[in-house]
Amino acid sequence: MSHLFYQTKSPRPVLHRAEGIYMYAEDGKRYIDGSSGAMVSNIGHSNPAVLDAMRAQMEKSTFGYRLHFQTEASEELAEKIVARAPEGLDKVFFVSGGSEAVESCLKLARQYVLTQGEGTRYKVISRYPSYHGCTLGALAITGMSTMTAPFDPMMARMPKIPAPRAYLDGLDADDPATGLHYANMLEQKILDEGPDTVMAFIVEPVGGASTGALVPPAGYMQRIREICDAYGVLLIHDEVMTGGGRTGTFFGAEHWRTAPDLICLSKGFGAGYAPLGAMIARGDMVEAVMEAGGFVHGFTYAGNPLACAAGSAVLDVIDKGGLVAHSARMGDKLAERLRGLMQRYPLIGDVRGKGLLTAFELMADRATKEPLPKSLNAHSRLVDIAYDNGLIIYSRRTRGGTSGDHFLVCPPMIVTEEQLDEMTDILDRSLAQFMAEMPR
Ligand code: PLP
Repeated sequence: MSHLFYQTKSPRPVLHRAEGIYMYAEDGKRYIDGSSGAMVSNIGHSNPAVLDAMRAQMEKSTFGYRLHFQTEASEELAEKIVARAPEGLDKVFFVSGGSEAVESCLKLARQYVLTQGEGTRYKVISRYPSYHGCTLGALAITGMSTMTAPFDPMMARMPKIPAPRAYLDGLDADDPATGLHYANMLEQKILDEGPDTVMAFIVEPVGGASTGALVPPAGYMQRIREICDAYGVLLIHDEVMTGGGRTGTFFGAEHWRTAPDLICLSKGFGAGYAPLGAMIARGDMVEAVMEAGGFVHGFTYAGNPLACAAGSAVLDVIDKGGLVAHSARMGDKLAERLRGLMQRYPLIGDVRGKGLLTAFELMADRATKEPLPKSLNAHSRLVDIAYDNGLIIYSRRTRGGTSGDHFLVCPPMIVTEEQLDEMTDILDRSLAQFMAEMPR
């Protein structure tokens, strides 16, 4: 009997080892990590260069409390991250995960507006559906009722706008008018709330688990930036899932050449080798807060040297292997293969994404976008069938925003074309099995 109580709807085997894109259970069965865990293992498992760097760091120190020591590992990683970040975002605050990165951004933003004499600003506008983490602050800006409902009375009620869902609304995502249409909802929300009460807007450049890799329409990200500037609202890019090269650029927002005031990073940044996340902030914001007495925030494990050494080695592996460009190329190849399946399986209603943040969505009717009946439990059933067939994919059913059963297919960025073929074959078989189970 296990003493753990993680949520698993279906019993899962014990993990024995993992290498590259493959994971092996204790009974020897092999699984393709087709979702990089939860879009984490971007460079694949057991990379020897990262393991060597971690071993070397372990020989030096595994912990140095940030108020007692600087560490070479955290300085080096901060330098590497700033070199990739948009101009002006040159301060880094390390944490151990995505929710902590989001919380850090919210708290720095609040302290910053106080230094500007704008203490009336405290609201953070976000989108639905969206996912920004499971701590109470991050949940307050998360647009996913399944995650938030039990905790509602404990959270601040933060305003939300719809995430752009052009494909469901029958709009052309390539038409800049579509981007304007959705982005202007932010302006309206700021006006409705009272501009002097709004502190920040948070957005995932490409939607993650909540929307299933929904890509913003043309012009959306740029217009969002303009609106934030016009009303003095800070812009936070939640790059927890998109950062680290997964979308085919190091930061997801590079696709639209827009820069935020704050960035949240995690997941692929530590790539599963160590719990690691970061807030990257505009230098002048940090200076203002430090001059006013300092940032009233900090986690004990922040800047852990072992985690930072791992993160640093991960970035080197990404650079040396040209993995960001490879992710863009393999993402196109994967989307092609999924579109091939779409031609054969009418219940695939949409294929979308950027780079290797790729998803497909099942629907009862592609033309009307009618979702599959909830009773089919497609989101978990297809995942289970694929799992039994040796392929791990990631799914959520989101109500309210997208039509429902979407599946993220996001293998490590080292994936080869042959491995994409292998994944597509298993997916093909799994879809056929799922369809055979459907009531006629
Ligand atoms: N933000 C985004 C966009 C995420 O996808 C996630 C996790 O899925 C988080 C924040 C929270 O990260 P963590 O689970 O590491 O706390």
